Amino acid sequence: MNRRNFLGTLATLPAGMAVPALAQEGPPVVEPVEKETARRTPTIALNHMGFRPRSGRKVLVVRATVSPPPSHYTLRDIGSEPFHFTRPLKLSPSSDLGPCLTADFTDLERLGMYQITVGEEHSVPFFIREDAWRRTLPTVVGYYRWQRCGVAVPGVHPVCHLDDARRRDNGEHVDEVGGWHDAGDLRKWMDPTLLNAIALLNLDRNLAARQPGDPSTEQILEEVRHGNLYFLKMQDTDGRVWHDTAGGINGDNSDNHWTDNIIGTPDDRYINTKKLEHISAMFSTLQGLVSQAYRAPDPAYAARCLAAGERAWQANARTGATLDLAWWALADCELHRATGKTAYRHDALRLGKQLLARQNVAFAAGQKEVRGYWTESPSASTAPSSSHFVPYFNVVYPALPAMALLNLYETFPTAADAPKWKAAVRRHLDEYVLPMSERNAFRLIPSGLYLGQPTPETYRPLAGELTYRYFMPVRKQFWWQGINSHLGSYALLLGEFARVLNGENGSGTVYADLAYRQLEWIMGANPFGACLMTAQGMRNPFPHSRFVGLIPGGIMNGIAGNEKDEPILDQEFLIDWRTCEYWSPHVAYYLWSVSTLESSV
Ligand SMILES: [Zn+2]
Repeated sequence: MNRRNFLGTLATLPAGMAVPALAQEGPPVVEPVEKETARRTPTIALNHMGFRPRSGRKVLVVRATVSPPPSHYTLRDIGSEPFHFTRPLKLSPSSDLGPCLTADFTDLERLGMYQITVGEEHSVPFFIREDAWRRTLPTVVGYYRWQRCGVAVPGVHPVCHLDDARRRDNGEHVDEVGGWHDAGDLRKWMDPTLLNAIALLNLDRNLAARQPGDPSTEQILEEVRHGNLYFLKMQDTDGRVWHDTAGGINGDNSDNHWTDNIIGTPDDRYINTKKLEHISAMFSTLQGLVSQAYRAPDPAYAARCLAAGERAWQANARTGATLDLAWWALADCELHRATGKTAYRHDALRLGKQLLARQNVAFAAGQKEVRGYWTESPSASTAPSSSHFVPYFNVVYPALPAMALLNLYETFPTAADAPKWKAAVRRHLDEYVLPMSERNAFRLIPSGLYLGQPTPETYRPLAGELTYRYFMPVRKQFWWQGINSHLGSYALLLGEFARVLNGENGSGTVYADLAYRQLEWIMGANPFGACLMTAQGMRNPFPHSRFVGLIPGGIMNGIAGNEKDEPILDQEFLIDWRTCEYWSPHVAYYLWSVSTLESSV
């Protein structure tokens, strides 16, 4: 996971910090400078995509940067029909990430294109329309075509990396042509790019009732087949799956370059033949999905992929850390859906018990504020406080343990443990995720819990020994970055739980609402008023994408934090990878979660 090459010491500005004024000739011109500063650091935080008329809440957040703060906002239709209203702003009781004013205009269901004004500041124009999110899906699916490796992509790059790759361990050449470049670089990591294909097939499943303009099944299957060409080649003869191609030899950036496409020359890139449990589990999950999706259009391909997925399942121990268990549970779900074999059901029940045991259910660490988060301890449920207690932390897969249990619940609804799986997901959301999100006006879900102050930087006190940060620690290790994958992972879990509840005559509204808030942060409702996707919204940073430049639908790592856990974002074209590099997981989660929300509410 440590895959980034930090390009120098790049200063990024905390939100609200004034941009240093350049020295000027003659008398100072105050007003334009003030306006320029306001433009760069807007106080209005509103999702640029707009809102569906009756799904998700419509919330305006305004950072309270002046005293006295503004008391009202005006909303007006900027289309052809005259319509406007002025309503009060209220000071939010949630003070993390700075004081904010909020207003809720969920009652406005009238279709149109609107703009909000607070004082002299205007919001980015936004829609209220049913397809406010759905209309972005074709562009975002198209992102993967730009990232294709091993083929020419017209207008993007000529045919590339036909000489991939040679084994690190013995130098032998193995055909690893194909797949997707993973990020703002040219490397082909298995973990995040497998997630691309898994998300695309879930998107196809979620869009079963197609609407005009949706990405077609044929388009999705063609894209997945391109990615899977590479994934299938990465399976070793023992059934297990290699780690990456071109990831760099010693954690460095040495393989991150174009090549001459000629096998055996010095610029050939390397295969990392390390084999991890969770990568095989993701591979098995994907092949289970592939075998279902291609069964009708290409039964021979479906059978071949299923055999590869089952071989990986048999070749691994299907044990390990919390992340490994969660991915194997998801693999069991898809392989069972594909085959109906009882072996996968038995394994799923076993993993379900292990995941339940790793959820904290007793209040731990001397506090009674939160519980229900996952840990790395097999005895979490019976050890409420101990010095070796380690909360599960993963910025890419934070919601995966709960996702796995929810998938078990949907796949094996008659299992004896099914009520426990659902209750565990509800506990995680109701007693950890929701209360933590209420500590700031944006409803941002913090990236992790900690015990005390493990590194010399700000950890926000929660209660007892527990602390939290919205953003990754920056003094712990070299690798830290923006948290869009974290937000997308939770948007997905929340959307899936809403779908389950809505399908059972319950109400998933509160969960769907919080799912949208995470996506809205990515798409402009953040302290910078910046959309972190290229070709949608406004104030997009220029991405760290050093080989092909802008990619429509690409999502950047997003807002990170400084030592004080204050939000930072490179808007000065410093090519900062931590906040502005494209990365597969953000795009995958966007497609998966938006399509889940479309199918559930
Ligand atoms: Zn390539």
